[in-house]
Amino acid sequence: MRPSFRLLSQAAKTPTRSSSIGFIGLGAMGREMAHHLVTKTLAERTQQGRPTSFVVCDSDHATVTRFIDGHSSQIAAKAGHTLVPTAQPSSVAKLCGTVVTMLPSSPQVRDVYLGEGGIMAGLQDASPTAQEDGTLLIDCTTCDRATGVEVAAKMGETYGPSSGPSSAVTMLDAPVSGGVSGAAAATLTFLVGSNNTAAFEQARDAVLSKMGARAIHCGPNGAGLTAKIANNLVLGATMLATAEAMALGVKGGLSAELLAHVLNTSTGRSWSSEVNNPAPGALRGTKHSPPADRHWEGGFAARLQAKDLRLALAAAEDVGLLVPMATMASKIYDRMESMDEYKFKDFSVAFKALLDSAEAAQAEKREAAAAREKAGVAV
Ligand code: NAD
Repeated sequence: MRPSFRLLSQAAKTPTRSSSIGFIGLGAMGREMAHHLVTKTLAERTQQGRPTSFVVCDSDHATVTRFIDGHSSQIAAKAGHTLVPTAQPSSVAKLCGTVVTMLPSSPQVRDVYLGEGGIMAGLQDASPTAQEDGTLLIDCTTCDRATGVEVAAKMGETYGPSSGPSSAVTMLDAPVSGGVSGAAAATLTFLVGSNNTAAFEQARDAVLSKMGARAIHCGPNGAGLTAKIANNLVLGATMLATAEAMALGVKGGLSAELLAHVLNTSTGRSWSSEVNNPAPGALRGTKHSPPADRHWEGGFAARLQAKDLRLALAAAEDVGLLVPMATMASKIYDRMESMDEYKFKDFSVAFKALLDSAEAAQAEKREAAAAREKAGVAV
């Protein structure tokens, strides 16, 4: 006998694994992305009468608590939705048919997917449901291509091929462009690598479209990471060039606001000059509010840009390419990463680092002159 509509709707009152969504890594980017994913999925699923469980995870307990506190009132218990905190990636994979990860870099991706208490272990616990109902794993981290390809291959080897529409467990690399402001406005661009076109379309329509403005299928697994690393090579270099130009102009007597206006209406324009200008006050009167106006707090940490340029150098070595511009930029960001006053600030703090080192060089000169004067040497 076919179940009645009434019975079906009663059965649908509890979230199932396939309707549940997990998010691991609620940092500067992840918390904004998870916010949109939860809010928009909730609205959609409440209308459909399809209860959903959201499982959120971060290795930092306080980060998870903040997210739960900020969203629990919005989860309508009467509609059957739940918001579940956990510190274990394995629990996320055990409970959810869709999992998004947004982690710092390659070591964390390996750990979260393949380590003890990781996603692979959770899929084993959820077996055979994880295979029968299918599991979609979307890694948005900017990590090295080899890690993305290897982890996706391991998932495929263990749980079925990662190509073909019937794959049981499918993993995509989907790093993002657009920064924290793009994550907050849900205007990110996802650069996706997937051997499986059907999985790409499913991820784009059901998940990525809620967190961003577009998803570009760049090719097979790893292709999204190659595209992202190439983009961030340009980003890192243009930010340094913009910081130097802004420092040059400001020290030469121009106001930051005027020089930004000149660059942004001339050929020097880029995202670094127009949206994330490194000089405080440069974008006053525009719709943009760059980290430079908040002592370079928030945004894209200098340590992450340093990491991305190292990824670019490794990728260039893999394909036998010389990249002198990226090599120089990498040295500068590595130095910023080694200094606590810059490491955690937005990478546009390169502007301050330039002025600080100019000031330090001046102070050194003055000290040397004073020392010579004291010693009675003519200066
Ligand atoms: P972040 O350091 O602010 O966030 C990373 C989060 O992952 C943190 O909350 C951390 O506690 C958590 N985490 C680390 N290890 C974990 C583990 N083993 N298990 C669970 N959680 C763990 O970094 P972010 O700025 O959000 O960047 C995330 C990724 O996005 C990076 O790869 C970065 O390069 C990329 N990205 C960042 C920006 C940006 O503007 N910040 C823009 C584009 C891409």
